[in-house]
Amino acid sequence: MNIYAVAIPVPLYKTFHYTSDEVLDLGARVEVNFANRRMVGIVWGQTDAHDVEPGILKKLKPVVRVLDQSPIFDETWRALLQWLSEYYQHPLGEVCQTALPVALRKPNGNSQIAAQKYLKLTSFFQSQWDECEDAGVIFKNAGHRVASQQQALFSELAKGPKSFVDIRQGFTKATLDGLAQKSMVTSFEAPIVAGSWQQHADYWANLTHARANVEQALVVTGITSQLEQYGAFLLEGVTGSGKTEVYLQTIANVLAKGQQVLILVPEIGLTPQTVSRFEQRFGIEVGVIHSGLSDAARLSVWQKARAEQIGLVIGTRSAIFTPLPTLGMIIIDEEHDESFKQQDGLKYHARALATMIAHKRNIPLLLGTATPTAESLHNANSGKYQHFTLTQRAGGAVPAALRLVDTSQIPLTAGLADETLKTMQEHLNAGSQVLVFLNRRGYAPAVICQQCGQAQECRACDKPYTYHRAKRKLICHHCTDQVSLVPSCMHCGHANMETEGIGTEQLTAQIDALFPQYNSIRIDSDAMRGKDVLSNTLDAINANDYQILVGTQILAKGHHFANVTCVVIMDVDTALFSPDFRATEKLAQLITQISGRAGRATKPGETLLQTAQPGHPLIQDLLNNGYGHCIRTILHERQANQLPPYTHQALIRAEDPDLNKCLRLLHFAMEQCEQLQSLMLLGPLPCLIEKRQSRYRYQLLLQAEQRGYLHGVLKQLTPSIQAFAQELRIRWSVDVDNIDFS
Ligand SMILES: [Zn+2]
Ligand SMILES: [Zn+2]
Repeated sequence: MNIYAVAIPVPLYKTFHYTSDEVLDLGARVEVNFANRRMVGIVWGQTDAHDVEPGILKKLKPVVRVLDQSPIFDETWRALLQWLSEYYQHPLGEVCQTALPVALRKPNGNSQIAAQKYLKLTSFFQSQWDECEDAGVIFKNAGHRVASQQQALFSELAKGPKSFVDIRQGFTKATLDGLAQKSMVTSFEAPIVAGSWQQHADYWANLTHARANVEQALVVTGITSQLEQYGAFLLEGVTGSGKTEVYLQTIANVLAKGQQVLILVPEIGLTPQTVSRFEQRFGIEVGVIHSGLSDAARLSVWQKARAEQIGLVIGTRSAIFTPLPTLGMIIIDEEHDESFKQQDGLKYHARALATMIAHKRNIPLLLGTATPTAESLHNANSGKYQHFTLTQRAGGAVPAALRLVDTSQIPLTAGLADETLKTMQEHLNAGSQVLVFLNRRGYAPAVICQQCGQAQECRACDKPYTYHRAKRKLICHHCTDQVSLVPSCMHCGHANMETEGIGTEQLTAQIDALFPQYNSIRIDSDAMRGKDVLSNTLDAINANDYQILVGTQILAKGHHFANVTCVVIMDVDTALFSPDFRATEKLAQLITQISGRAGRATKPGETLLQTAQPGHPLIQDLLNNGYGHCIRTILHERQANQLPPYTHQALIRAEDPDLNKCLRLLHFAMEQCEQLQSLMLLGPLPCLIEKRQSRYRYQLLLQAEQRGYLHGVLKQLTPSIQAFAQELRIRWSVDVDNIDFS
């Protein structure tokens, strides 16, 4: 009898023992009984019977069954998962579960693809070909018109069956469908051949790319000369400098070696337009992974990647867990984007995990952005990352000029200054598009009673409801609670209420009234709900169907608007006074990214920043010296104030309807750390969102100069907090390298 330690997705910092008559592979999924429930666990290690207490030994239960033919997690992945568990102080079983596609978290999920789909000519048309070897003649005899692409595919298939994957390298789906409609082809399934995509290596090696400028060429050569080893590269390129072209040319060199490539992009940046750019360049099936896909679709990409059936995977954060046996490079585009950090469950940063993967596999990691984070820039300065820069906009486009509009002393129309309106009109008159940024959804951020002066508030969060006029609802943006708009005040019952402030819904309506001869479109998560809506809207904008774009930060995520020459940024001043020390960095990134949407083609652009704080040092630095200087100033301040990345932080959060319980847990944590000289403690303090869904939220900040020291403390601390929290019955979490205090 063998005894195995199994990692099970429960919030406990340990593995559990099970027996098996068979010898099990480490890293395999098994079905086990745990607390009278059937669960999927991962075989983590073998244990000697002498190491288990005799009393417990007798009670061990057998593994119900093994779920995979070959282990899901190889040795490298097991080491990575172990690292994740220790680094982020998260139970191993839950870490393993996070790394699995949802479909494999259940016992019936299948990790193998048995077969691949192939296409061949029907026997009738195959015999026709054997007679004349001329697709044109065959089409004509069958009464079909000339269709050169379909005939070309017909001739290819006449030589022998081809997999769908191979067909899609050279032919469109429409061509394929054309042959199918003519009943000329038939499909069948056969076992897959791993690495079939690699036979096109010569094609990629000889691919002709668009001509790169000197800067781009230097980066491509620099990275390509170091493909055989670990290396982290920070590519700092101004918006519009052609980072994607650098990615494409570098990827070609990796594919040509027969190695797979993984590209991570921000959640909202993954549109069909992004994917088709890669498909078109490489003529290859691209595996796409994002949260909008069905579990089955995600599993399919996971299976294909694992079976080496695809060479290129593009995905959002969780795509970092895709198994790619011949991985040759990882790219993280827009590395500054916050969506790369998971905010619940295992609070990992995809960039940190990518660094570990690249290290273990001895491959390069490329981080690209126009606005590098303080962390990444610090790593570049200290030599951990190699630093490349792109300073010129591709195609000779001129960077958008930043202009301040002082709104402190002047009346505004729909939140816009007269000077702003006048400038917008000029750009519209010139036939260009205008983009207006306002990071607030809904019609108005508050509804105020004119009788008692109080805002209508969500009772679960103590925060004002946002008024959504089209839905006729008050919606809490913290917990998504909705109530119908009632005519009377929830505090005093009077029926005299007015909205205060302006959101994108109201702004779009007012802009329509101010510029009636132009079409406007609202781009926020309310308006862009549903499959393909954002993608279709982007196409319509590029076809000039809309002249005025009003939107939230969705607009800041790397989309290309060739005809936008004027960008207006409204209402960002609150970030200048935020208690979060990262707020200024994020604001500088936001302004730079949005401003980068303007003047990307041949027309010069300008950005108008409306602010009541025109003299603020950050605004002045950004205006006069640009992001690159601004972030370096921020780094100096962080160093002077002993803040990350010069120190290391972790947050312990407690959430409960009973405020006292939150405080008890955090005080308990503090007591455990009392004697530690090298640890700085701050708190307990309320989170920036102090109450959400009827739970109070409090936190304790731990900070140390040495990362190793902080992790040593956390390793001691978390099991005891877990035990005390279980006793108190309170929800808690630890967030290592937290990126905010919300
Ligand atoms: Zn009232
Ligand atoms: Zn709420």
